[in-house]
Amino acid sequence: MAKLELRGVAKAFGDNAVCRGIDLSVEEGQMVCLIGPSGSGKSTLLRCINLLEPIDDGEIMLDGEDISVPGLDPQPVRARIGIVFQSFNLFPHMTAAENVMLAPRRVHGKSREALAAPVRALFQRFGLGDKMGHYPDQLSGGQQQRVAIIRALAMSPEIMLFDEITSALDPELVGEVLDVLRQLRGEGMTMVLATHEMAFAREVADKVCFLDGGMIVEEGPPATIFSTPQEPRTKAFLKRVV
Ligand code: ADP
Ligand code: MG
Repeated sequence: MAKLELRGVAKAFGDNAVCRGIDLSVEEGQMVCLIGPSGSGKSTLLRCINLLEPIDDGEIMLDGEDISVPGLDPQPVRARIGIVFQSFNLFPHMTAAENVMLAPRRVHGKSREALAAPVRALFQRFGLGDKMGHYPDQLSGGQQQRVAIIRALAMSPEIMLFDEITSALDPELVGEVLDVLRQLRGEGMTMVLATHEMAFAREVADKVCFLDGGMIVEEGPPATIFSTPQEPRTKAFLKRVV
């Protein structure tokens, strides 16, 4: 059984059909990369998986259980599926550690004392052990994004979704954030990424899905998608971006 399975997922905003019957299977421990032109529906798909957008049709199965049924409380599901966005959205008036503790305190009702050791361990695991007391404006963009990833990990998610998390960074800061993803992959985290980092996708993805017009036009192992794409739209896109 797949860890995450989408079947015929459809989502429209008014008459704009943004996801048009998406089937996607993600095995435990896999890293799946979504690539495709701007407006192809990557962000919307990730938001649907995290139940930030209700879907119009189809099913989203997590461990074989349909999490897209109407009326289901989204909160416990969101705790199991972390999401990180392009904009880090750290609270500027809180230290890095306070930002990370916020959701576990609110959602899991944990105390600062109970969280101190696990949160310190998370910061150390990702090379930010000396930055816990820093405020966001005292951190580089790359460090802020790494804190945002730690914040999502503090909920002990089973799956992580990443939406263009390096797109807002200066080029010299992209590498340290991609290194976090490499590390997570090595640790066996199940991940779905929307990304423009083609070289990275080629290097680490288990599966690459090319989206266009709200559909997965082509998918496969990165070596196949990048070296011998079959669909004309995939070929044209890769010619433009690689
Ligand atoms: P991508 O991430 O691949 O660039 P998006 O999922 O952001 O694609 O957008 C796909 C389409 O959905 C675009 O036409 C966009 O304008 C539209 N869209 C996304 N979010 C909303 C929203 N909240 N309301 C209305 N239209 C939206
Ligand atoms: Mg997007």
